[in-house]
Amino acid sequence: MTDRRPYNLLSVIIPAHNEQDNAPACASAVSRLLDSYDIDYELIFVDDGSTDRTWLRLTQLARSDERIKAICLSRNFGKESAIFAGLENAGGDVCAVMDCDLQHPPETLVEMYKVWRDGDGVDIVEAKKRSRGTESGGYRFFAKLFYRIMNRVSGLDMSDASDFKLLDRRAVDALLRMPERLTFFRAMSSWVGFNTETVYFDVAERRSGKSDFDTKTSLKYAVTSITSFTSAPMQLVTVLGVITFIIAMIFGINTLYNKLTGNSEAGFPTVILLQLITSAIIMFSLGIIGYYLSKIYEEIKQRPRYIISEKLNLDRRD
Ligand code: UDP
Ligand code: MG
Repeated sequence: MTDRRPYNLLSVIIPAHNEQDNAPACASAVSRLLDSYDIDYELIFVDDGSTDRTWLRLTQLARSDERIKAICLSRNFGKESAIFAGLENAGGDVCAVMDCDLQHPPETLVEMYKVWRDGDGVDIVEAKKRSRGTESGGYRFFAKLFYRIMNRVSGLDMSDASDFKLLDRRAVDALLRMPERLTFFRAMSSWVGFNTETVYFDVAERRSGKSDFDTKTSLKYAVTSITSFTSAPMQLVTVLGVITFIIAMIFGINTLYNKLTGNSEAGFPTVILLQLITSAIIMFSLGIIGYYLSKIYEEIKQRPRYIISEKLNLDRRD
Protein backbone atom coordinates (compact mmCIF):
# COMPACT_ATOMS: atom_id res chain seq x y z
CA MET A 1 0.00 0.00 0.00
CA THR A 2 1.17 3.51 -0.68
CA ASP A 3 2.18 5.85 2.05
CA ARG A 4 -0.55 8.43 1.70
CA ARG A 5 0.63 10.58 4.56
CA PRO A 6 4.42 10.75 4.60
CA TYR A 7 5.10 13.07 7.53
CA ASN A 8 2.67 13.03 10.38
CA LEU A 9 2.74 13.95 13.98
CA LEU A 10 0.79 11.65 16.26
CA SER A 11 -0.51 13.19 19.50
CA VAL A 12 -1.26 10.59 22.12
CA ILE A 13 -3.60 11.93 24.78
CA ILE A 14 -3.41 10.15 28.10
CA PRO A 15 -5.77 11.20 30.91
CA ALA A 16 -4.32 10.33 34.28
CA HIS A 17 -5.93 10.41 37.69
CA ASN A 18 -3.79 9.07 40.51
CA GLU A 19 -1.46 7.16 38.22
CA GLN A 20 1.90 7.89 39.85
CA ASP A 21 3.28 4.44 39.05
CA ASN A 22 1.49 3.90 35.76
CA ALA A 23 2.38 7.23 34.14
CA PRO A 24 6.16 6.62 33.82
CA ALA A 25 5.57 3.01 32.78
CA CYS A 26 3.03 4.10 30.20
CA ALA A 27 5.29 6.86 28.87
CA SER A 28 8.24 4.53 28.43
CA ALA A 29 6.21 1.67 26.94
CA VAL A 30 4.48 3.91 24.41
CA SER A 31 7.55 5.95 23.44
CA ARG A 32 9.72 2.89 23.07
CA LEU A 33 7.21 1.27 20.75
CA LEU A 34 6.50 4.37 18.66
CA ASP A 35 10.24 5.02 18.35
CA SER A 36 10.80 1.51 17.11
CA TYR A 37 8.27 2.11 14.33
CA ASP A 38 9.74 5.53 13.48
CA ILE A 39 6.48 7.26 14.21
CA ASP A 40 6.76 10.95 15.01
CA TYR A 41 4.81 11.54 18.19
CA GLU A 42 4.09 13.63 21.24
CA LEU A 43 2.59 12.29 24.45
CA ILE A 44 0.15 14.61 26.19
CA PHE A 45 -0.51 13.57 29.74
CA VAL A 46 -3.45 15.28 31.43
CA ASP A 47 -3.26 15.12 35.19
CA ASP A 48 -6.90 15.18 36.21
CA GLY A 49 -6.56 16.52 39.74
CA SER A 50 -4.53 13.63 41.12
CA THR A 51 -3.96 13.55 44.85
CA ASP A 52 -0.84 11.39 44.68
CA ARG A 53 2.52 12.13 43.06
CA THR A 54 1.33 11.90 39.47
CA TRP A 55 2.13 15.53 38.67
CA LEU A 56 5.63 15.23 40.14
CA ARG A 57 6.26 12.19 37.95
CA LEU A 58 4.90 13.99 34.91
CA THR A 59 7.16 16.97 35.63
CA GLN A 60 10.17 14.68 35.72
CA LEU A 61 9.09 12.97 32.50
CA ALA A 62 8.49 16.28 30.72
CA ARG A 63 11.87 17.55 31.81
CA SER A 64 13.68 14.50 30.49
CA ASP A 65 11.96 14.43 27.10
CA GLU A 66 10.40 17.37 25.35
CA ARG A 67 8.08 15.15 23.37
CA ILE A 68 6.33 14.43 26.63
CA LYS A 69 3.88 17.23 27.37
CA ALA A 70 1.87 17.57 30.52
CA ILE A 71 -1.23 19.48 31.48
CA CYS A 72 -2.35 19.84 35.07
CA LEU A 73 -6.04 20.48 35.69
CA SER A 74 -6.91 22.58 38.72
CA ARG A 75 -9.03 19.80 40.20
CA ASN A 76 -10.59 16.48 39.26
CA PHE A 77 -12.88 17.28 36.32
CA GLY A 78 -13.41 13.68 35.20
CA LYS A 79 -11.98 11.67 32.35
CA GLU A 80 -14.20 13.33 29.73
CA SER A 81 -12.86 16.79 30.51
CA ALA A 82 -9.31 15.49 30.67
CA ILE A 83 -9.68 14.01 27.18
CA PHE A 84 -10.95 17.30 25.79
CA ALA A 85 -8.17 19.25 27.53
CA GLY A 86 -5.69 16.98 25.77
CA LEU A 87 -7.40 17.25 22.38
CA GLU A 88 -7.54 21.03 22.58
CA ASN A 89 -3.82 21.18 23.24
CA ALA A 90 -2.76 18.58 20.71
CA GLY A 91 -0.73 19.69 17.73
CA GLY A 92 -0.78 16.40 15.86
CA ASP A 93 -2.12 15.64 12.38
CA VAL A 94 -3.71 12.71 14.09
CA CYS A 95 -4.66 12.27 17.74
CA ALA A 96 -5.16 9.16 19.79
CA VAL A 97 -6.70 8.79 23.22
CA MET A 98 -5.63 5.97 25.52
CA ASP A 99 -5.76 5.04 29.20
CA CYS A 100 -2.78 5.49 31.45
CA ASP A 101 -3.00 2.10 33.15
CA LEU A 102 -1.82 0.20 30.05
CA GLN A 103 -5.19 -1.53 29.72
CA HIS A 104 -5.13 -0.24 26.17
CA PRO A 105 -2.20 -2.09 24.58
CA PRO A 106 0.35 0.23 22.88
CA GLU A 107 0.69 -2.35 20.09
CA THR A 108 -2.94 -1.68 19.19
CA LEU A 109 -2.11 2.02 19.00
CA VAL A 110 0.50 1.28 16.34
CA GLU A 111 -2.01 -0.88 14.50
CA MET A 112 -4.56 1.95 14.58
CA TYR A 113 -1.98 4.44 13.35
CA LYS A 114 -1.14 2.19 10.43
CA VAL A 115 -4.81 1.74 9.52
CA TRP A 116 -5.14 5.52 9.44
CA ARG A 117 -1.90 6.14 7.54
CA ASP A 118 -2.22 3.41 4.96
CA GLY A 119 -5.97 3.32 4.61
CA ASP A 120 -7.74 5.24 1.90
CA GLY A 121 -9.03 8.34 3.63
CA VAL A 122 -9.67 6.78 7.01
CA ASP A 123 -10.51 9.53 9.52
CA ILE A 124 -11.32 7.64 12.68
CA VAL A 125 -10.00 4.32 13.91
CA GLU A 126 -11.83 2.98 16.91
CA ALA A 127 -10.60 0.15 19.04
CA LYS A 128 -13.29 -2.19 20.28
CA LYS A 129 -12.95 -4.61 23.13
CA ARG A 130 -12.62 -8.16 21.94
CA SER A 131 -12.78 -9.39 25.49
CA ARG A 132 -13.64 -7.46 28.61
CA GLY A 133 -10.64 -8.54 30.68
CA THR A 134 -11.44 -9.24 34.30
CA GLU A 135 -14.68 -7.29 34.55
CA SER A 136 -17.24 -8.90 36.82
CA GLY A 137 -20.42 -10.53 35.52
CA GLY A 138 -22.64 -7.80 36.95
CA TYR A 139 -20.57 -5.04 35.41
CA ARG A 140 -20.63 -6.81 32.09
CA PHE A 141 -24.41 -7.15 32.27
CA PHE A 142 -24.93 -3.45 32.96
CA ALA A 143 -22.41 -2.41 30.33
CA LYS A 144 -24.33 -4.51 27.77
CA LEU A 145 -27.66 -3.08 28.89
CA PHE A 146 -26.30 0.46 28.73
CA TYR A 147 -25.00 0.08 25.20
CA ARG A 148 -28.22 -1.57 24.08
CA ILE A 149 -30.21 1.42 25.37
CA MET A 150 -27.73 3.85 23.82
CA ASN A 151 -27.99 2.05 20.50
CA ARG A 152 -31.79 2.13 20.57
CA VAL A 153 -32.12 5.75 21.46
CA SER A 154 -29.23 7.31 19.58
CA GLY A 155 -28.87 4.99 16.61
CA LEU A 156 -25.11 4.75 17.22
CA ASP A 157 -23.73 1.28 17.67
CA MET A 158 -21.40 1.61 20.59
CA SER A 159 -21.33 -1.92 21.91
CA ASP A 160 -17.83 -2.76 23.09
CA ALA A 161 -16.79 0.79 22.32
CA SER A 162 -14.05 2.32 24.40
CA ASP A 163 -12.35 5.66 24.65
CA PHE A 164 -9.40 4.12 22.85
CA LYS A 165 -9.65 5.96 19.54
CA LEU A 166 -7.51 7.55 16.89
CA LEU A 167 -8.83 10.61 15.09
CA ASP A 168 -7.62 12.51 12.08
CA ARG A 169 -7.19 16.27 12.49
CA ARG A 170 -10.46 16.79 10.55
CA ALA A 171 -12.40 14.73 13.05
CA VAL A 172 -10.66 16.35 16.04
CA ASP A 173 -11.53 19.81 14.77
CA ALA A 174 -15.13 18.79 14.17
CA LEU A 175 -15.29 17.40 17.69
CA LEU A 176 -13.77 20.50 19.23
CA ARG A 177 -16.29 22.69 17.45
CA MET A 178 -19.11 21.06 19.39
CA PRO A 179 -19.97 23.59 22.05
CA GLU A 180 -21.57 21.50 24.79
CA ARG A 181 -19.97 21.44 28.23
CA LEU A 182 -21.11 17.98 29.24
CA THR A 183 -19.25 15.79 26.83
CA PHE A 184 -19.37 12.12 26.01
CA PHE A 185 -16.30 11.44 23.92
CA ARG A 186 -17.22 7.90 22.96
CA ALA A 187 -20.53 8.92 21.43
CA MET A 188 -19.52 12.32 20.11
CA SER A 189 -16.66 10.85 18.12
CA SER A 190 -19.16 8.52 16.43
CA TRP A 191 -21.68 11.28 15.95
CA VAL A 192 -19.29 13.45 13.90
CA GLY A 193 -19.33 10.71 11.28
CA PHE A 194 -16.37 10.44 8.83
CA ASN A 195 -14.78 7.27 7.55
CA THR A 196 -14.40 4.93 10.46
CA GLU A 197 -12.43 1.72 10.73
CA THR A 198 -12.39 -0.67 13.64
CA VAL A 199 -9.62 -2.68 15.21
CA TYR A 200 -10.03 -5.10 18.10
CA PHE A 201 -8.04 -5.42 21.28
CA ASP A 202 -8.02 -7.46 24.44
CA VAL A 203 -8.38 -5.44 27.60
CA ALA A 204 -5.23 -5.95 29.63
CA GLU A 205 -5.10 -6.01 33.41
CA ARG A 206 -4.76 -2.63 35.09
CA ARG A 207 -1.03 -2.18 35.66
CA SER A 208 -1.25 -0.83 39.20
CA GLY A 209 -3.56 1.22 41.38
CA LYS A 210 -7.31 0.79 41.26
CA SER A 211 -10.02 1.74 38.80
CA ASP A 212 -11.96 4.94 39.41
CA PHE A 213 -15.09 3.46 37.95
CA ASP A 214 -16.90 1.34 40.49
CA THR A 215 -20.54 0.35 40.01
CA LYS A 216 -21.90 3.58 41.45
CA THR A 217 -19.76 5.94 39.38
CA SER A 218 -20.34 3.82 36.29
CA LEU A 219 -24.09 4.07 36.79
CA LYS A 220 -23.84 7.82 37.23
CA TYR A 221 -21.63 8.01 34.16
CA ALA A 222 -24.18 5.97 32.20
CA VAL A 223 -27.09 8.23 33.18
CA THR A 224 -25.10 11.39 32.44
CA SER A 225 -24.01 10.00 29.09
CA ILE A 226 -27.49 8.97 28.03
CA THR A 227 -29.06 12.26 29.05
CA SER A 228 -26.31 14.38 27.55
CA PHE A 229 -26.68 12.55 24.30
CA THR A 230 -30.37 11.94 23.78
CA SER A 231 -33.72 13.23 24.95
CA ALA A 232 -35.43 9.87 24.46
CA PRO A 233 -36.03 9.30 28.21
CA MET A 234 -38.17 12.41 28.21
CA GLN A 235 -40.35 10.90 25.51
CA LEU A 236 -40.70 7.94 27.81
CA VAL A 237 -42.82 10.24 29.93
CA THR A 238 -45.26 10.68 27.05
CA VAL A 239 -45.37 6.94 26.44
CA LEU A 240 -46.08 6.29 30.13
CA GLY A 241 -48.83 8.89 30.01
CA VAL A 242 -50.46 7.18 27.03
CA ILE A 243 -50.23 3.78 28.71
CA THR A 244 -51.82 5.10 31.92
CA PHE A 245 -54.56 6.70 29.87
CA ILE A 246 -55.34 3.45 28.08
CA ILE A 247 -55.40 1.51 31.36
CA ALA A 248 -57.69 4.15 32.86
CA MET A 249 -60.05 3.86 29.86
CA ILE A 250 -60.22 0.08 30.15
CA PHE A 251 -60.91 0.33 33.88
CA GLY A 252 -63.52 2.98 33.26
CA ILE A 253 -65.38 0.94 30.68
CA ASN A 254 -65.13 -2.11 32.92
CA THR A 255 -66.53 -0.22 35.91
CA LEU A 256 -69.35 1.23 33.83
CA TYR A 257 -70.19 -2.22 32.51
CA ASN A 258 -70.23 -3.68 36.02
CA LYS A 259 -72.41 -0.85 37.20
CA LEU A 260 -74.90 -1.36 34.38
CA THR A 261 -75.06 -5.13 34.86
CA GLY A 262 -75.36 -4.61 38.60
CA ASN A 263 -72.15 -6.53 39.43
CA SER A 264 -70.35 -3.55 40.82
CA GLU A 265 -68.17 -4.35 43.81
CA ALA A 266 -66.73 -1.99 46.36
CA GLY A 267 -63.70 -0.95 44.32
CA PHE A 268 -61.61 0.62 47.00
CA PRO A 269 -58.40 -1.42 46.43
CA THR A 270 -58.55 -0.69 42.71
CA VAL A 271 -58.80 3.00 43.35
CA ILE A 272 -55.82 2.99 45.70
CA LEU A 273 -53.79 0.87 43.31
CA LEU A 274 -54.55 3.18 40.42
CA GLN A 275 -53.69 6.18 42.53
CA LEU A 276 -50.36 4.65 43.49
CA ILE A 277 -49.48 3.74 39.94
CA THR A 278 -50.35 7.16 38.60
CA SER A 279 -48.43 9.01 41.24
CA ALA A 280 -45.43 6.74 40.72
CA ILE A 281 -45.49 7.51 37.02
CA ILE A 282 -45.88 11.22 37.65
CA MET A 283 -43.01 11.32 40.12
CA PHE A 284 -40.80 9.25 37.84
CA SER A 285 -41.60 11.57 34.95
CA LEU A 286 -40.95 14.66 36.99
CA GLY A 287 -37.63 13.14 37.99
CA ILE A 288 -36.60 12.68 34.37
CA ILE A 289 -37.69 16.20 33.48
CA GLY A 290 -35.85 17.55 36.52
CA TYR A 291 -32.72 15.74 35.44
CA TYR A 292 -32.82 17.34 32.02
CA LEU A 293 -33.52 20.72 33.55
CA SER A 294 -30.42 20.38 35.67
CA LYS A 295 -28.39 19.48 32.57
CA ILE A 296 -29.76 22.52 30.75
CA TYR A 297 -28.92 24.60 33.76
CA GLU A 298 -25.37 23.31 33.76
CA GLU A 299 -24.95 23.91 30.02
CA ILE A 300 -26.42 27.38 30.09
CA LYS A 301 -23.89 28.53 32.66
CA GLN A 302 -21.28 28.14 29.90
CA ARG A 303 -18.58 27.23 32.33
CA PRO A 304 -15.35 25.89 30.88
CA ARG A 305 -15.04 22.12 30.62
CA TYR A 306 -11.87 22.27 32.69
CA ILE A 307 -9.40 24.71 34.16
CA ILE A 308 -5.70 24.30 33.53
CA SER A 309 -3.37 25.20 36.37
CA GLU A 310 -0.08 24.30 34.70
CA LYS A 311 1.34 23.23 31.36
CA LEU A 312 4.70 21.70 30.55
CA ASN A 313 6.35 21.69 27.10
CA LEU A 314 3.18 23.19 25.63
CA ASP A 315 3.73 26.92 26.19
CA ARG A 316 4.19 27.82 22.57
CA ARG A 317 0.63 26.72 21.78
CA ASP A 318 -1.27 29.31 23.76
N1 UDP B 1 -9.24 9.01 34.72
C1 UDP B 1 -9.22 10.40 34.69
N2 UDP B 1 -10.06 11.08 35.54
C2 UDP B 1 -10.94 10.46 36.39
C3 UDP B 1 -10.96 9.05 36.37
C4 UDP B 1 -10.11 8.36 35.52
O1 UDP B 1 -8.46 10.99 33.95
O2 UDP B 1 -11.64 11.14 37.11
C5 UDP B 1 -8.33 8.24 33.83
C6 UDP B 1 -7.48 7.19 34.52
O3 UDP B 1 -6.29 7.73 35.03
C7 UDP B 1 -7.22 6.21 33.38
C8 UDP B 1 -8.48 6.30 32.54
O4 UDP B 1 -9.12 7.53 32.91
O5 UDP B 1 -6.12 6.61 32.59
C9 UDP B 1 -9.41 5.13 32.80
O6 UDP B 1 -9.72 5.06 34.17
P1 UDP B 1 -9.87 3.69 34.96
O7 UDP B 1 -8.72 2.79 34.65
O8 UDP B 1 -10.07 4.06 36.38
O9 UDP B 1 -11.21 3.12 34.35
P2 UDP B 1 -11.54 1.66 33.78
O10 UDP B 1 -10.34 1.18 33.04
O11 UDP B 1 -11.86 0.84 34.97
O12 UDP B 1 -12.72 1.90 32.90
MG1 MG C 1 -8.45 1.18 33.57
